[in-house]
Amino acid sequence: MAGALSRRGCIKIRGPQLRELLDSKCNILFDCDGVIWEGEKAIPGAIEVVSLLKNQGKNVFFVTNNCTRPRDSYMQKFTRLGFTDVQKRDIFSSAYCSAVYLRDFANLQGKVFVIGGDGVYKELREAGVPFVESEPETPGMTISDCPLHSDVKAVLVAYDEDFNFLKLAKACCYLRDSECLFIASDPDPWHPVRGGRVTPGSGSLTAALETATNRKATVMGKPSRFMFECITSQCGADAAQSLMVGDRLETDILFGANCGLSTVLTLTGVSTIEEAQANLESDSPAKQNAVPDYVVDSIDVFLFIILHFKAAGSHLVDETGNVKGSINSKYPAPMEKPNIEDRSSEYVVQFFNDVDGHKSQRKNKQRTKRAASVEYWFINSVDQYD
Ligand SMILES: [Mg+2]
Repeated sequence: MAGALSRRGCIKIRGPQLRELLDSKCNILFDCDGVIWEGEKAIPGAIEVVSLLKNQGKNVFFVTNNCTRPRDSYMQKFTRLGFTDVQKRDIFSSAYCSAVYLRDFANLQGKVFVIGGDGVYKELREAGVPFVESEPETPGMTISDCPLHSDVKAVLVAYDEDFNFLKLAKACCYLRDSECLFIASDPDPWHPVRGGRVTPGSGSLTAALETATNRKATVMGKPSRFMFECITSQCGADAAQSLMVGDRLETDILFGANCGLSTVLTLTGVSTIEEAQANLESDSPAKQNAVPDYVVDSIDVFLFIILHFKAAGSHLVDETGNVKGSINSKYPAPMEKPNIEDRSSEYVVQFFNDVDGHKSQRKNKQRTKRAASVEYWFINSVDQYD
């Protein structure tokens, strides 16, 4: 088993291997979009996975390049979607990490000029980092006659839906001073939006400014190492004890590799297993760095590994003997579900998803009535009570 876990490269993992991996890590880092939620919907099983990991004493962190919200807004989203165990201190967004960098690492001697939205401004304000307030546009004003602030000592570029030519021009002027810091919240080139459309990301705005100034920005978000250094500085996380779970190869997985973390690609978001395989087979060192150690279809496969069920008669029980579900049958079971031939599990367990998307681990009539769907889980690592 240890040999299997020490290999690097796109291994589809489940069962005992996944349990061994989780047992070996104290810190679990999750990307958000495409990993624990998709828009306004939690990925099935994500709420339970986060809760169970925390109950097991793991440190769970959320690392996101999405800088459009402050952490207070993320907290509201976690609550809205049904996550009950998340604390503000668990959330490391690129907006928050940018504020931490400017407050704790940059020795800033003046104000920050921001290209970005509310998420960035609110984090800077909360961190006590001085910045130039967002200025309303004056019709007809150009870079030739607009006021500039003499005390700007850093330019921070982030996702900005109100990006315009004058903001770009002002940033260029500030960055002519070689002492003025050039910070980018994240390098994301674009983001998927509804209806198959895309929106340009912070990286595209940063690229415009890099071209105009012939300078390179210091990036805060993934795949830069700083986001992990930010976690380390506040929580003392150790890379060897940490696992990064993400859906995007060029940010999440590369971030994990850059920081020396074990990585899991989950296939509920942007990147595909074919793209991961292509990176694995590529001659390009850059692409080979964006190869996940492991691949899962969804983080819901963590659920049963974490629960560490034991079989007791016809029931599954947890460590304290509480019944957590029924064993319907031993594999191969006379189930109606397709793909059972592909499974190599010993036990099959029925779970019910209620209309709110919550998973019921115990069958009863009331839950069955409310069930929106039924799932069959295949467990191949159930320990037997003697
Ligand atoms: Mg993502």
